[in-house]
Amino acid sequence: MDDPVERLKDGFHKFKTEVYDKKPELFEPLKAGQAPKYVVFACSDSRVCPSVTLGLQPGEAFTVRNIAAMVPAYDKTKYTGIGSAIEYAVCALKVEVLVVIGHSCCGGIRALLSLQDGAPDNFHFVENWVKIGFPAKIKVKKDHASVPFDDQCSILEKEAVNLSLENLKTYPFVKEGLANGTLKLVGGHYNFVSGEFLTWDNKQPS
Ligand SMILES: [Zn+2]
Repeated sequence: MDDPVERLKDGFHKFKTEVYDKKPELFEPLKAGQAPKYVVFACSDSRVCPSVTLGLQPGEAFTVRNIAAMVPAYDKTKYTGIGSAIEYAVCALKVEVLVVIGHSCCGGIRALLSLQDGAPDNFHFVENWVKIGFPAKIKVKKDHASVPFDDQCSILEKEAVNLSLENLKTYPFVKEGLANGTLKLVGGHYNFVSGEFLTWDNKQPS
């Protein structure tokens, strides 16, 4: 089982025989289209796949994954991969719930908290990407100045989610869905060290 491609083929064979072939009631309707209820924003981290951790079935969640599960504010000139996913999910698929999920031991959050003013970047893209969460970092540094770095990271994992929820409200079609009650924003945090999953409604003023 050392060949990486064989590993993928074996994985698909197992899925095909044990899941796909056994659940036509699930997979047949999906041939005609999708009507997911959720958009899930999650980190690219290999330990936090939301379909696995939340038991989401094919067709249930439109999923956007990136470093640290960041949602940038509306900007037609940048981050169009994220903007187009949100737009398609909300305007075409008519999803009902937007969920942003942070997680424990997030390397992207740690990178954001570690950034020093004026220091050279170690990566081509990572630093610029995680800077989307800069306002959350400023808040954590200010409100929890005396807390050890690792604990600040844990707090920032959740504050970055709150910032992403606020950023979602800058998309006109999200704002409209929230105003007419067809959309809901939810924050989440998966702790894979303690095995806990938290959710909270977005209650901050828009
Ligand atoms: Zn992460």
